[in-house]
Amino acid sequence: MSDIRAHEIMVPTSEPDDARLHFIGRIHTPWTDRKDCPRQGKQDGPECRIEIFEPWVPALKGIEDYDQIEVLYWLDKSRRDLVVQNPGHSDRTYGTFALRSPVRPNPIGTVGAKLVKVEGSTLIVRGLDCLNGTPLLDLKPDRCAFTPKASPKD
Ligand code: SAM
Repeated sequence: MSDIRAHEIMVPTSEPDDARLHFIGRIHTPWTDRKDCPRQGKQDGPECRIEIFEPWVPALKGIEDYDQIEVLYWLDKSRRDLVVQNPGHSDRTYGTFALRSPVRPNPIGTVGAKLVKVEGSTLIVRGLDCLNGTPLLDLKPDRCAFTPKASPKD
């Protein structure tokens, strides 16, 4: 891919094939075009569905105890070869690690989402910002809500 903006820097990259991730589900949102997605999810955003695939459905046990969950997903439509970017809304450039752009070497997206309800193998949530069909990598309880349940540790 070479359609980059002024002052952006692209680097040659090998085909990424080292991480063996399981896509554990699929995210269903109203957005089919990147320009329509929010830049960051909002807690009062539309209800979205997170579908969990077998055999991972039993891994949802107990998640209904949490109002807030972390959602990690794979921004699968992103290019992965920019080290310096020129965000459309900015008049300067930034290194990729100084941005939350979907364009990154390993395009992992994260949000804190509001868990509305669990319906079998599907979570209904608010607060997402990804395209319809985005692959799901992981779910975790909100870290503040989880800490009191975990055994104490320094
Ligand atoms: N909240 C996440 C984060 O901070 O890690 C992602 C933020 S990123 C700025 C969100 C943007 O990524 C959306 O507005 C959309 O333009 C783009 N996007 C959403 N889903 C995508 C996908 N599946 N592949 C590539 N880009 C996507």
